[in-house]
Amino acid sequence: MKKILDYSETVTQRGHQDRGKTPDQNEDLFFDREKDGVCPFCKIQTQIVHCDYQLTYPEWLEGGEFDIQEDVKQCGNCGWWRLRCDKVTTVGIEARSFVMESAILKSYDLSSRYVPIEAIRKYLVENFGDVIHIHDRNMERLVQSVFREYFTCDVEHVGRSHDGGIDLILVNSDSPTVVQVKRRKSLDHVEGVSGVREFLGAAVLKKSRSCIYVSTSRKFSDPAIEAAQQAIKVGSVQSYELYDFDRFCDILKLTTSIDHAPWKAYMRKEW
Ligand SMILES: [Zn+2]
Repeated sequence: MKKILDYSETVTQRGHQDRGKTPDQNEDLFFDREKDGVCPFCKIQTQIVHCDYQLTYPEWLEGGEFDIQEDVKQCGNCGWWRLRCDKVTTVGIEARSFVMESAILKSYDLSSRYVPIEAIRKYLVENFGDVIHIHDRNMERLVQSVFREYFTCDVEHVGRSHDGGIDLILVNSDSPTVVQVKRRKSLDHVEGVSGVREFLGAAVLKKSRSCIYVSTSRKFSDPAIEAAQQAIKVGSVQSYELYDFDRFCDILKLTTSIDHAPWKAYMRKEW
């Protein structure tokens, strides 16, 4: 079973401690900085990947000092991270506050149908061969998501109603492009001519002028490639594109960006 880790959501914790009083919330986090230094998933020490400190004597404190410290710790193994910003105001006695943003760990089974498509895309960028393990329905939604960005148009998921093998429709012109998606159990499967012909039939019946056949197989057979070319030559359709493993992998990589420092969005902007 292949696992996907997803850290796209976060949780915020805050605390405030007035001069000499007990903190109003998250008291343990005020005093035990060790607690935020361990990855809750891997149980190993995290590394400091960002640290800033500033000490000022602002006028509004009338001689008092204002310290601010921000750091980010990240797990070198799985990528989990936590950003913490502490503020200390000292006029005689200290007043402290902190805000902490932590990534929420979600772990999915790659072949489950409940994995978010964004998480699948990010995972496949580095593990594209595992595309054969994803759920059939997610395969269709994956192609939908990638094509939506690649062709910058709306892509309708026809899904279960299965209109003669039409899984997706690219709404890119008056004559929409129909798409068939095949997730094969082996990358070495060769897409034969019959599937390509059959889908052409579905496209013609739908009065579509363009079709795209996407497969996770590494190759289409020569007769399959010739059939797609012949369909254009005799004017059955204007275009018939075949996407094999490499071709689809290339556009997935092109359209999927991996943010290696997602915590940057939560940083103080003034540094
Ligand atoms: Zn970890």
